[in-house]
Amino acid sequence: MVKGKPPKPKKCKACSEKFIPRNTLQTACSPKCAIQLAKQLTQRKQQREEKERRAAWNKRKADVKPLSHWMNMTQRAFNDYIRARDGDICISCGSTTAVSYHAGHYRTTAKASQLRFNEDNCHSQCSACNTHHSGNIGPYRINLIAKIGPQRVEALENNNTPHRYTREELERIRARYRALLRELVKQREAA
Ligand SMILES: [Zn+2]
Ligand SMILES: [Zn+2]
Repeated sequence: MVKGKPPKPKKCKACSEKFIPRNTLQTACSPKCAIQLAKQLTQRKQQREEKERRAAWNKRKADVKPLSHWMNMTQRAFNDYIRARDGDICISCGSTTAVSYHAGHYRTTAKASQLRFNEDNCHSQCSACNTHHSGNIGPYRINLIAKIGPQRVEALENNNTPHRYTREELERIRARYRALLRELVKQREAA
């Protein structure tokens, strides 16, 4: 008399053929497939280890990058958001037909780094005003007051507390503005 249930057919993990296993541990249909399977497992393990090694290496590389690298990446993300928020209109001269627009800081990133990621301090600006007229700052101020009100402009002008950014903080700011940009694009596509 046969004890228990007859063994159910199993799919061979190497060749995918159905077979009747001799015991529950058997996962391959034949010695040939068992060898093949062992090889695959070793290969997968090696691939996993290689991936882990590469991730560790990338992390080490990121750790030694200077802060300026993260600053630039974050500034780009912030500026991209500002450009998308405002569209093609110059805060200084009001032009809407310039060849290109930049994110122009009211108080420059060089002189007021604490305001480099401040949304009140940065607006779309035509390339001529941004680069050739060093910000065309007189009209910038007038139009900025019209746009956000005198209190907020004064708050910018009175903010002189230097700020030291950490890499973690820059990464957080970058992630935030990438998300805001994605959200903005999605909203506009839905509208
Ligand atoms: Zn097999
Ligand atoms: Zn302009």
